[in-house]
Amino acid sequence: MRPQDFSEAGLSSLPKEKLIALVKEMKAKRNAVILAHNYQEGPIQEAADFVGDSLKLAQHALKVEQPLILFCGVHFMAETAAMLCPEKKVLVPDLAAGCSLADMVIPSQVRAWKKEHPGGVVVCYINTSAAVKAECDYCCTSANGLEVIEAIPREKEIFFVPDYYLGSYLKAKSGRPIEVWKGYCPAHAVINPGEIEHLQEAYPEAEFLMHPECGCLTKQMDLADRILSTDGMIRYVKDSPSSAFIVATENGILYRMRKENPGKTFLPASEHAACHHMQRNTLEKVFRSLVRLEYEVTVEPEIARRAVICINRMMEVTGKPEIIPLSEDWILEAANDFR
Ligand code: SF4
Repeated sequence: MRPQDFSEAGLSSLPKEKLIALVKEMKAKRNAVILAHNYQEGPIQEAADFVGDSLKLAQHALKVEQPLILFCGVHFMAETAAMLCPEKKVLVPDLAAGCSLADMVIPSQVRAWKKEHPGGVVVCYINTSAAVKAECDYCCTSANGLEVIEAIPREKEIFFVPDYYLGSYLKAKSGRPIEVWKGYCPAHAVINPGEIEHLQEAYPEAEFLMHPECGCLTKQMDLADRILSTDGMIRYVKDSPSSAFIVATENGILYRMRKENPGKTFLPASEHAACHHMQRNTLEKVFRSLVRLEYEVTVEPEIARRAVICINRMMEVTGKPEIIPLSEDWILEAANDFR
């Protein structure tokens, strides 16, 4: 290709298969690995080496041998990979691909709660910035949130940030008086009970799968056949004997579900459940990122050190402490730091 063909317009004019082949070629030249979130567009998933949810991607980042990771997801996910793999270079295709939910809480708000609640425990969803994680005691995902809450002594006050719906779900399931921050994901908040009821009437045989970030969760928790993380959904639809599913999460996940289960029907709970941050990443930007080696994501070492302690406590609770190797200093720090 001539240099001018690497422009956005030049790359967009190529057939997707050709561009996927070019990305793979460039990836090999750069000795890079591409990790893509389940919500990424189909062509990015096709070019990726591994597709999964934010936790699986972070765990996978730890296993890869390549010195360069191109992370196709949103900024906090790339930060997690950068913190866990300080010896690797982590790139993202578009620095503006953030997370509206993660942006809804900032470190000073967590510090303020801790000041008012000495001895309280702060649990953060993995969808938070590294700076927020550094202020929190435990991290959790939608898959292991309940396990994390149940590992905290019952007499401790708990503050959950930033997702109100996941926090409310954990509060209901654990029966604990958790204080919940009122953040939300706009892509999940648009999923409304009315649309789901119509779909259930039209497809009575379909199983209804819901992600706990959904805005309708508090009202429809009992109506969902399953409340699952994105990787949980991917696994579930493969094993379930059902042939149709109503899927309440960001619609990018439908690409992988349909590809891996060609005989089954997947219906989005809302046509509007799209994350504009995830959609900022395109295959054209992925290619350019590999060519120009941009945009690098780094985390200030002191923030990384504290944030990894918070992530590692989650790993310990879920019985996978081997996933994040900590230096002895960090383990000692974690023990001293725990309140
Ligand atoms: S779908 Fe929501 S929670 Fe996920 S990255 Fe987008 S804004 Fe954040």
